[in-house]
Amino acid sequence: MGESEFDVIVVGCGIAGLSAAVTAEQHGARVAVLERAPMEERGGNTRYTESFWRMKSADAVSDDFEERFAANAGGWPDPGIVKDAVLERENQPRVLRSLGMVDPNLVATLAEEAPKALQWLQSFGVTFDFLPTYFLSQSTTRMGPVGGGLALIEALGGYADARPGAIRFFYETSARSLIVDDAGSVAGIRAMGPDNAPFDLFAPNVILASGGFQGNPEMLSRYVGPLSQFIRPVSRGGHYNRGEGVAMALDAGAAPCGDFGSFHAQPVDPRSTDIEPVVLTYAYGILVNDAGKRFTDEGPAMVDSTYEVVTRIIMGQRNGIAFAVFDAGLDDVENWSIAVRSRVPPFEADTLEGLAAAMDIDSDEFLATIEAYNAACPASGDFQPLRQDGLATRGVEPKKSNWARPIIKPPFRAWPMICSNCFTFGGVKVDERARVINTDGDPIPGLYAAGEVVGLYYRVYTGATSVMRGAVTGRLAGRDAAG
Ligand SMILES: Cc1cc2nc3c(=O)[nH]c(=O)nc-3n(C[C@H](O)[C@H](O)[C@H](O)COP(=O)(O)OP(=O)(O)OC[C@H]3O[C@@H](n4cnc5c(N)ncnc54)[C@H](O)[C@@H]3O)c2cc1C
Repeated sequence: MGESEFDVIVVGCGIAGLSAAVTAEQHGARVAVLERAPMEERGGNTRYTESFWRMKSADAVSDDFEERFAANAGGWPDPGIVKDAVLERENQPRVLRSLGMVDPNLVATLAEEAPKALQWLQSFGVTFDFLPTYFLSQSTTRMGPVGGGLALIEALGGYADARPGAIRFFYETSARSLIVDDAGSVAGIRAMGPDNAPFDLFAPNVILASGGFQGNPEMLSRYVGPLSQFIRPVSRGGHYNRGEGVAMALDAGAAPCGDFGSFHAQPVDPRSTDIEPVVLTYAYGILVNDAGKRFTDEGPAMVDSTYEVVTRIIMGQRNGIAFAVFDAGLDDVENWSIAVRSRVPPFEADTLEGLAAAMDIDSDEFLATIEAYNAACPASGDFQPLRQDGLATRGVEPKKSNWARPIIKPPFRAWPMICSNCFTFGGVKVDERARVINTDGDPIPGLYAAGEVVGLYYRVYTGATSVMRGAVTGRLAGRDAAG
């Protein structure tokens, strides 16, 4: 093994990597940061997010925080095994310590550490507030940094840039594999620099903060399945996340955690080049696929808590595309345009036949769909866009549970929608110190994971918790690795 010039190597410099690197430096460590992107594009997904945090104040997470994580835990874990999750981790049976699940201890750590992480970020000059979102109404509380994730990258990145003797960046350099010594401890990283030049970097601690595998079609196809050909990262930053962090940890014996077959799904306009060009108005109209047919309940509940499920159903439609169709009644929804982030104008026509032609879908099927839907809408009722109004269809499949009004009045408008991939859920298991746990339930000496590399979500994303996951696990890892 070579000489250790560094105490800690951090892979990736989004919120997780920068939180880890800066915290480690603040605790006296010499840090190397490897980053695939060039400096001007550093920051992965974090650079492009508005970065909402599921908080009710700077001092506390939302009231529904733990309840939502429990509700979104997915699957049917064996109660005979998970009952021991209440024990201290060292007293838990090995089979539980390495089990892929939503770990209540980790969720409790997140809840406890999120306010501290937020306040720590404030100490770098970032301001948090209750900022407007693209949801017309919200089922929880969210705060965000003024200036979004970019403000976090600039604040922490600026701090790190000012300390080149303590934190050294290697840009356009990707970590490829872990160097593990004969005692089973992590000893460094094998990396690929610019111009395909490999090199080794040594340190007794490695923090994997390189995001998920949303930018890796091979891993997506392997884990999410062939429908992943229809999805794309929601931002440019996601393309840099090619899954090496997850893969190298698994290769080193890490226990898998998080739902490998799933990801955070967001409905976007495929024509748009905007960041996160979501279309979140569909509950006030109908969704049809490119065969002209409805395929799901467009209004099961408030959009901010149901869009992910609906979006995954869009992924499963022929060609992975759908259209959100409206009549002039969309304008009854005050400020509806804040829920459409695509700046590409919708398809528009004065007749439904004309709209079908603009969407390039089968007109006869589309007209039959509208006729059946219109006939099933209630004849009257109190349309309430900002709450579940119970205006439901009757006698049509699939049912629409709320906001059902006939589509009759021109102009008719439609936005195309596909499923985008914000980040993948498959990652590795960590403990409350962000140490990576192996498949036998023991920490791998010197190995940490932070941010999207940490497996935390199953089936449904508990919204506005991923940036805080990055900040919290990054800080935990940086502190422990420097310690
Ligand atoms: C448009 C958008 C909106 C979002 N909205 C929210 C929100 O409101 N609230 C919320 O909580 N979450 C939100 N998210 C998700 C959240 O932003 C991310 O999950 C989170 O920022 C990820 O942080 P991270 O540090 O783990 O990864 P990233 O920020 O993606 O950073 C990973 C870094 O690792 C680098 N990298 C990758 N592979 C390697 C390698 N092999 N070697 C070296 N470097 C590598 C990448 O270049 C990148 O810089 C949003 C995401 C997007 C894109």
